[in-house]
Amino acid sequence: MKVCLFGGTFDPPHNGHLAIARQCRQELNLERIYFIPAFLAPHKTNLKIADVRHRLAMLNLAVQNESGFEILKFELERQGISYSIDTILAVKREFQLGKKDLYFLIGADSFTEFNTWREPERILDECRVIVAGRPGFSIDRVPQAYRQKVMVLSNPLMTVSSTDIRQRIQKHLSVDELIPEPVLDYIRKNKLYQN
Ligand code: ATP
Repeated sequence: MKVCLFGGTFDPPHNGHLAIARQCRQELNLERIYFIPAFLAPHKTNLKIADVRHRLAMLNLAVQNESGFEILKFELERQGISYSIDTILAVKREFQLGKKDLYFLIGADSFTEFNTWREPERILDECRVIVAGRPGFSIDRVPQAYRQKVMVLSNPLMTVSSTDIRQRIQKHLSVDELIPEPVLDYIRKNKLYQN
């Protein structure tokens, strides 16, 4: 069984997340994409993020009608700072997966900061890292030692980000085209991101 882990803050989940996950599943012929909401992303520890309960509810709504997408709560249950290497090792243990069956999806923006991650070399040794293109982020400057070990996805580029969505909601601008409708309904009902 070939599966892929896809970690993020998902605050909120958006069409860019879904698009790269779909492309990854299709291009690599994967059985499942596991969305893994971070309890606390290492590079976002000083940012205010929505409550875990809301982020998880929105992620559930975002993936509910997608075949092959599932949510894993490893990082939420572990709490503390969510380091990907810990999650990768835990998933491998739990599902008895070897390197050839475990993929790990990240966007190009995350890959440009890969040297700041905990144990980047070990991540590259433990699973197959897939990098999705993201507008405005070139991976040309990422050390060759990392680049040669990843696969770059040929996804259509989408400029959407969670930050942009939060700001648009605050300014009462439309986000209809950027997030799945049930997620938008949830945001409105719970008055998220309004100030
Ligand atoms: P924020 O704007 O709050 O930083 P984000 O839109 O980057 O959020 P995250 O939940 O932090 O969303 O992202 C999870 C993963 O998805 C990261 O690896 C990120 O690089 C990737 N990603 C998010 N949006 C896109 C996009 N539009 N294109 C490619 N990759 C993306």
